[in-house]
Amino acid sequence: MQNIKPRIVLSKCVNYEACRYNGLMVNSPIVEKLKEYVEFITVCPEVEIGLPIPRESIRLMKDGDEVRLVKSMSGEDFTEKMVSFSRKFVGDLTDIDGFILKSRSPSCGMKDVKLYSGIGKIPAISTKSVGLFAQEVINSYGHLGIEDEGRLTNLQLREHFLTKIYTLAEFRHLPRTMKDLVDFHASNKYLFMAYNQAKLKEAGKIVANHEKLTVAQVFAQYQAKLYQIFQKGANITTNINVLMHIFGYFSKELNSDEKAHFLEQLDLFRQKKIPLIVVVTVLNSWLMRFKQPYLAKQRYFNPFPKELMSISDSGK
Ligand code: SF4
Repeated sequence: MQNIKPRIVLSKCVNYEACRYNGLMVNSPIVEKLKEYVEFITVCPEVEIGLPIPRESIRLMKDGDEVRLVKSMSGEDFTEKMVSFSRKFVGDLTDIDGFILKSRSPSCGMKDVKLYSGIGKIPAISTKSVGLFAQEVINSYGHLGIEDEGRLTNLQLREHFLTKIYTLAEFRHLPRTMKDLVDFHASNKYLFMAYNQAKLKEAGKIVANHEKLTVAQVFAQYQAKLYQIFQKGANITTNINVLMHIFGYFSKELNSDEKAHFLEQLDLFRQKKIPLIVVVTVLNSWLMRFKQPYLAKQRYFNPFPKELMSISDSGK
């Protein structure tokens, strides 16, 4: 896992090129940090369809039942060009684990784009539209990790995104043998339990393969289940369930002060006063002390490189 780099498509104006309409680049410290740990495939859809840098801004405009991509002042229309470029680009992608898109852009924005009723200086009628490029990404790759650089400043969203892209990348690199799948499933047991206990059980049945399917069929079914497991982030209640399970392995070895300290930390986590990583770190220290081999290989303790762990949180 240490050497596996997820392949992530990135809006090029985020930390790579000053290609925004105003000739500037967006600086995201998280993307900067990720450069060492993921393989970025960068793209600027607006430059790809022939728009210059700098350029007049473009916007999403409601036109009857349709949404068009037009120049904000002149109304020149780029909808067809953008849709056809996006379909071709997205259709040509292979072996991708996720996307980081620029927020609020009428091309790349994934959920917070302004929509207008016309051109010129008028107020937006909505701030919840999706950029045309982002829409094609969602249509084809909605099951992968898709985030924007703004949302990644939120600790919970970032941890979910990183966990998802690293697990999917690891699965993508897994040798296609049943032994490797069994090991993968076993080492992800507590991670998947924190995400979705029911889907964890269903994934276990796929691995058990009572129907005697071919290895390729089993992997295909398992991959589909993996996407379902990661559909939503893990929540506080499911994490507490997992933390208590793991605590159970150590509790006989601990003295009453240590137990009380752990339960206190758990309570603070329940009240959202400390992040998950603080409680996991306590368990990790016991893992080193008591050398529990089954737990030692659990990805729950390190679902992505530790260098990417950070408790910074915008609170947004
Ligand atoms: S938001 Fe997308 S289209 Fe706009 S400059 Fe950035 S990469 Fe290019």
